Amino acid sequence: MANNEDLFKQIIAHAKEYGFIFPSSEIYDGLSAVYDYGQNGVELKNNIKQYWWKAMVQYHENIVGLDSCIFMHPTIWKASGHVDAFNDPLIDNKDSKKRYRADVLIEDHIQKIEDKINKEVEKARKRFENFDEKMFRETNGRVLQYQKQIDDIKERFATMMNANDLAGLKSLIEELGIVCPVSGTRNWTDVRQFNLMFATKLGSVSDGADTIYLRPETAQGIFVNFLNIYKTGRMKLPFGIAQIGKAFRNEIVARQFIFRMREFEQMEMQFFVKPGEELKWFDYWKQTRLQWHTDLGIAPENYRFHDHEKLAHYANAATDIEFKFPFGFKELEGIHSRTNFDLSQHEQYSGKKLRYFDPESNENYIPYVIETSIGVDRMFLAVFSNAYTEETLEDGSLRTVLRLPAKLAPYKAAILPLVKKDGLPEIGQEIFDKLKKEFMVQYEDKDAIGRRYRRQDAIGTPFCITIDNQTKEDNTVTVRERDSMQQYRLPIDSLVDEISKKIR
Ligand code: ATP
Repeated sequence: MANNEDLFKQIIAHAKEYGFIFPSSEIYDGLSAVYDYGQNGVELKNNIKQYWWKAMVQYHENIVGLDSCIFMHPTIWKASGHVDAFNDPLIDNKDSKKRYRADVLIEDHIQKIEDKINKEVEKARKRFENFDEKMFRETNGRVLQYQKQIDDIKERFATMMNANDLAGLKSLIEELGIVCPVSGTRNWTDVRQFNLMFATKLGSVSDGADTIYLRPETAQGIFVNFLNIYKTGRMKLPFGIAQIGKAFRNEIVARQFIFRMREFEQMEMQFFVKPGEELKWFDYWKQTRLQWHTDLGIAPENYRFHDHEKLAHYANAATDIEFKFPFGFKELEGIHSRTNFDLSQHEQYSGKKLRYFDPESNENYIPYVIETSIGVDRMFLAVFSNAYTEETLEDGSLRTVLRLPAKLAPYKAAILPLVKKDGLPEIGQEIFDKLKKEFMVQYEDKDAIGRRYRRQDAIGTPFCITIDNQTKEDNTVTVRERDSMQQYRLPIDSLVDEISKKIR
């Protein structure tokens, strides 16, 4: 059984070998933290986006879509606070010359103490039945000590982050004895702030050219279109605006494949509500978004909420949905109650009123906002890594299978004539032409059938349809299911209905 690091490497290799994800500009040795999606990757990615869009826009009568531009007026980023405060604290190790995020070094240290607690709990569970984590935390001295350490670090860390206390962060790293994973030394530079936005010039490169930014989030495009959509869509509170689009961040450390990229895609929705009702809606979106994830059939224990203890000054509630990636639980999606901060800022900076007229109370006010924000690429990694399975079959052979949720799989079915003669390819082509109008299907007639099955397993195709000599007699085909490898015969005429039913 591979350890988690090896498993993650295998997943990355698999993504490349089977046409899901390639390093960008690979023939020029790649570009750090930028990736391209190949022929299978683009299908999976599009299916994720469609699954989100349907759940958010199609299934909610009060949520509409938007496609705003990547380039926006530079003042937007001043108003939103990104010019002054969209920073990460960076620190370098003088020996390895490697650069780190100071906050991530501390968070990883906290995680290591958490791991120690989990180990203690596991040990106790082996000894006593029905011994749960809560009981253990209450009774074991060692665990209490670890917990106290964690609470203490967390409290000091949050205070430093809020106060922008860079010297404090460096002292904390030194005090905790955190070493560089590469050099193993504690020879750190001072902590500096680093703005994550990419800047470029609009217009010809002349004196008058304006500095503009590649958007670091899609949300601001929604806020600055609030009035347009409210008026032209005759929207009534509560209502939402959803958008999928590219975002860019000059991340300091981007080493975890598509988990942290410099160019990535977000699916964001801002839900505008009456002031005072935001916490009710925050809870609604917390549950609704978690449900969206678990509806895919991925085991619920892979998800957990991480409520923010210290909130940004404009937020009155915030949580992350964390997912158990191969490298541990990490943020997959953020849900934030952002009060009326963004619209108020844009009102102030633009001089335009961004208010809602409430026909019931006859008042004008700036709505409050609940945001749900998830990275498409992070979602891709969650689904992909969860689906990746290696199993030993009864005959001792090894099978690699992507157990993707059927509705997200790049291809829903593969059409495979058993042999490339006796009229079987022609029947296969006919079935392909019929099925392709309903969903993505693949036709393949090269190699032995077993090898073709394995190739389809490796890209996550839920159904293989095999045409053999019996097909010529009774118009039935063999359907092989990816996960169970079970096989049964079905009439050709029922394929569309049966497969559609199973995918749904
Ligand atoms: P992190 O703490 O991991 O840097 P964040 O809190 O900065 O994330 P948000 O600004 O809340 O993230 O962005 C919303 C979502 O966008 C995240 O939950 C994540 O799914 C995605 N995301 C953010 N940054 C990146 C990135 N560099 N690469 C890929 N996805 C990202």
